[in-house]
Amino acid sequence: MRKLTLITDSPDQTRELGRTLGQKVSTGLAILLSGDLGAGKTCLTQGLARGLGVPEQEPVVSPSYTLMNQYRGRLDLYHFDLYRLVNPDELADLGFEEYIAGEGVTIVEWADRFPDLAVQGLRIDIGHLDENRRQVTLQAQTASAEKVLDSLVQNGGEKECAG
Ligand code: ADP
Ligand code: MG
Repeated sequence: MRKLTLITDSPDQTRELGRTLGQKVSTGLAILLSGDLGAGKTCLTQGLARGLGVPEQEPVVSPSYTLMNQYRGRLDLYHFDLYRLVNPDELADLGFEEYIAGEGVTIVEWADRFPDLAVQGLRIDIGHLDENRRQVTLQAQTASAEKVLDSLVQNGGEKECAG
């Protein structure tokens, strides 16, 4: 499966990467984010929401207390944050599976906290390099995620590809 590693030098660059992804994703894709607190998962999600056409004036914030925020763009966006989730049954109660199986795009912060969630899609891990630099590793697990990475590379992403 295709894997791509990029470096971003600022929050704006991470948002820009998210925006590009948002322009390229197609219906039903699940994006699974991992990385420490402050890595940039929410930052990337904000850009992705804009790329999907969520209006600029609509704030995109981490749903850590509500577990999920929903936005409407070219496709619906379901933004989950599992940081405070203790019992995965709560996710089932929220209808996680239905969102994943639906036509919108689902993005999940802290997806790695629950390795048993059997969700395949685009995995994105963000690592701290220093204060303003992040290493973003994107890994496609499905054909539709692979397409996103392919078009990211065609778009000039390869110039920043570190491996
Ligand atoms: P997370 O959701 O992973 O906990 P956030 O997106 O909320 O992280 O916060 C990321 C923090 O790191 C923000 O304060 C942002 O300004 C800062 N930051 C610094 N450099 C970067 C970068 N290259 N990409 C993303 N965020 C960055
Ligand atoms: Mg966050």
